Amino acid sequence: MKNLSILGSTGSIGCNVLKIVEMFPERFSVKTLAAKSNTKLLAKQIKQFNPELAVVFDKSFAQDLKSMLPLKTKVEIMYGEDGYLTAAAYSSSDIIVIAIVGAAGLMPTLSAIEAEKTVALANKESLVMAGEIITKRAEQKGVQIIPIDSEHSAIFQCFAGHRREDIDKIFLTASGGPFLNMPVDIFDTISVEDALKHPTWQMGQKISIDSATLMNKGLEVIEAKWLFDLPLEMIHILIHPQSIIHSMVSYVDGAVIAQCGMPDMLGAIGYAISYPERLPLKQPSLDFASIGALTFDNPDFDKFPCLSISYEACRSGGTLPAVLNAANEVAVHAFLKKQIQFVEISSIIKQTMDKHTSITNPAISDILHADNMARKQAQEILAKA
Ligand code: NAD
Ligand code: MG
Repeated sequence: MKNLSILGSTGSIGCNVLKIVEMFPERFSVKTLAAKSNTKLLAKQIKQFNPELAVVFDKSFAQDLKSMLPLKTKVEIMYGEDGYLTAAAYSSSDIIVIAIVGAAGLMPTLSAIEAEKTVALANKESLVMAGEIITKRAEQKGVQIIPIDSEHSAIFQCFAGHRREDIDKIFLTASGGPFLNMPVDIFDTISVEDALKHPTWQMGQKISIDSATLMNKGLEVIEAKWLFDLPLEMIHILIHPQSIIHSMVSYVDGAVIAQCGMPDMLGAIGYAISYPERLPLKQPSLDFASIGALTFDNPDFDKFPCLSISYEACRSGGTLPAVLNAANEVAVHAFLKKQIQFVEISSIIKQTMDKHTSITNPAISDILHADNMARKQAQEILAKA
């Protein structure tokens, strides 16, 4: 039996984790559930999975949650940073699933590592912000970080049974998002509804917009760099609209190992929480004959400037990737609120990055400070836009 803490349990990834727990009650038990504000869904999850601890964002959500639970419920309710860090280091949990969206995933990820828990990591933003610190600390503590992000799960699977020194390069595949074939001169007509319609994956709002701008792939390049300790030159992006090949590793003898599957997160999540076993998920098997053709293309850096600025942040390092991430969060939020246009997202991020003086070899406090300042800076730029 594996005991789980699930942070971000009410989100797209969190709900899929619970779907797997529901399928395999003899294998998994839920010890803690944490979410931000969706107390209605969290209350339902508590009644079904019976955790020992539940965490929400603040006191009013905690009161709200309590009022929805039967009086005799034994679950402890916590809120705020303390609560999330406690859930991430919960003593009877073996695996901590970090499925929180955005920078809020950083400190819980570090807390789980400090507590020497296995981390099943969906939250790519934490690695973008502090990949070096996270991976170094995990190595020192002997903690395994198993990726949930489908591309990184694929690469992790393609590494199995091979020698690290034999890797030539990796290919991160990208669907290309909903605007892959739209002429760039009509990008100013893109609505929030258009941008949320991802062609192949069902996901939360923030990552759906990141997929439309291709910022998601930029963040994933940085995620891969730290997770797999690879130089940027060995990480290649490949547009693959069918999303059947989830990513590939090319070895020095020219052999390329690909991991394929339907575009559904259950496979990657199941692998992360049952590793090294594979769960009998009974997913529909790939019908290659009816898929017919798999196609590939190079990414267009001019059409999708978020890719170029991600590379710039990655090359420069220091606190700049945290600034990229923070400004992106602010810009995506503003786009979702219909305060800015789709095409303004990249320019707000770029302007915020240009105003930042990066600190090399930052400590966590430097990264959190850069994140905070970048949010303020991006808000100011937004206000003037
Ligand atoms: P989502 O918006 O559907 O869910 C986010 C979850 O995080 C919710 O449970 C929410 O309550 C919680 N949350 C939000 N802000 C919080 C805060 N400040 N403090 C604590 N909890 C907070 O997002 P998602 O699509 O499930 O994505 C989660 C993470 O997984 C993201 O980092 C995303 O990039 C990554 N990811 C998602 C997918 C996918 O298919 N959805 C695939 C790969 C990677
Ligand atoms: Mg991905």
